[in-house]
Amino acid sequence: MLSSAGVAAQAARRRTFAVISHPDAGKSTMTEALALHARVIGQAGAVHGKGDRRGVVSDWMAMEQQRGISVTSAALQFSYGDTVINLLDTPGHADFSEDTYRVLTAVDSAVMLLDAAKGLEPQTLKLFEVCRQRRIPVITFINKWDRPGNDALALMDEIEQRIGLKPTPLTWPVGIAGQFKGVIDRREGTFIRMQRSPGGADLAIEEEMSDAEAAEQYGADWETATEELELLAMTGADHDQAAFLSATTTPVLFGAAVANLGVRQLLNILVELAPPPEARPTVAGTDKPVDSAFSGFVFKMQANMNRTHRDQVAFMRVCSGRFERGMIVTHSGTGRPFATKYAQQIFGQGRETIDEAFPGDVVGLVNATALGIGDTLYVSEQVQYPPLPSFPPEHFAVVRTDDTSAFKRFRRGIEQLDGEGVVQVLKSEQRGDLAVLAAVGPMQFEVATYRLETEFGVKVKLDHLPYEIAAITDAAGKEILRTESNVEVMTRVRDGALLAVFPHRWRMRTIAGRHPDLRLDAPMDTG
Ligand code: GDP
Repeated sequence: MLSSAGVAAQAARRRTFAVISHPDAGKSTMTEALALHARVIGQAGAVHGKGDRRGVVSDWMAMEQQRGISVTSAALQFSYGDTVINLLDTPGHADFSEDTYRVLTAVDSAVMLLDAAKGLEPQTLKLFEVCRQRRIPVITFINKWDRPGNDALALMDEIEQRIGLKPTPLTWPVGIAGQFKGVIDRREGTFIRMQRSPGGADLAIEEEMSDAEAAEQYGADWETATEELELLAMTGADHDQAAFLSATTTPVLFGAAVANLGVRQLLNILVELAPPPEARPTVAGTDKPVDSAFSGFVFKMQANMNRTHRDQVAFMRVCSGRFERGMIVTHSGTGRPFATKYAQQIFGQGRETIDEAFPGDVVGLVNATALGIGDTLYVSEQVQYPPLPSFPPEHFAVVRTDDTSAFKRFRRGIEQLDGEGVVQVLKSEQRGDLAVLAAVGPMQFEVATYRLETEFGVKVKLDHLPYEIAAITDAAGKEILRTESNVEVMTRVRDGALLAVFPHRWRMRTIAGRHPDLRLDAPMDTG
């Protein structure tokens, strides 16, 4: 068995993070670029159009076999020098769901990727809000600097004003967006000229240049950049590791993922500044050290949607100790043993057995029908991590079945899906016995209906409700809201929370404005 010093060293090598961004900001491009820089991929996919994404994934699958990296549907792992990078996927686009938020319970830091021309966008804000609540340190990468966009200082202002994080740029661009010449490394005080490689599919060409040379070559751009740097220095926008780790400041980098510009800097910053896995708080109120006996928790469940081969994969983040395939671990909720013979790394449709893992790593446990989201697994010392929070739903639908003979199965199915966190189940006085399903993304409804039909043999109908925002209220709030129209208070079955649901945020604000004492916690009201 590995000594606890060995485990501590393995944990210290790891960086487990996710990219938070709005669709099209460049997350996939950045993911490839990071992997490219880690010299895992010889060439980033030359074309980054939507249609080619699959091609990239399958490239990775081939790569997986050749070079021993793993793309799981939940995490990509690669080595960069002596560091092991775990990049957890935050599904966006049509796949945006409660899982996307839950991934953020399994990371130690996040990279907030902004499109230079668009700044902070709605999905980024929502994901950032989860980071804020969990005090996850955030590194900001301003992407697409190779094409026209916003002013760099204006972007810094936007970050500070809208999300309250103080930006502390580590690099600063020379040349406005669209005229990218390179960056000044603020800590080193050096200028690095950056050029995309011919075709842009290989590492950027970087070259350190003296100030005098840069001033001569870049004239007005150089002057502007140095003036801006003086302004930044005056406002104290310097990196402070403690402030970053306590999630009050965000280091900022500039670049263009598509041309691999600034990507090396980002990787280096992840290695240098992003926190490694650390002791994790337990429900007992103590923190479990990374070098204690093995423990982990499930942050994502994936039911196989293939009828012929139905199983369930639980994605577990290792929190402490060394995970070894074949270990018999204890399931904290039931106290029952769980055999990990089928521990795997899962990539697309392919799977590969994984033999060991350390804190920060993600393991896919196949045949995990006994496990649910938030469950803790451990060996030797009993431990339980806090349950994962529920996130405010934005989609609501009454679920019903016409098949009266299937009523028991229907109820059991709804309970099961609620327990697994596939959807949230709500009850409303106005609707009597009818259950309302609530979700962060509509895909959750598809999974729920599919599973009710295939696993429980119940065909269901969903009647979508015209609501799109929910806020937590209390009993007094419920009484107040009885006097208002266009709002409904529902009880979330899972935790008994009272959710006030509104057709849109303006309605919520109007009602909140009329009742100063009304409790409405709408943590994701980012509009
Ligand atoms: P995702 O939806 O966040 O995963 O975004 P993608 O990685 O698919 O990128 C969306 C589009 O932006 C694609 O057409 C990319 O080629 C393009 N893109 C990504 N990064 C950059 C960049 O740094 N510069 C430019 N000009 N385009 C980029």
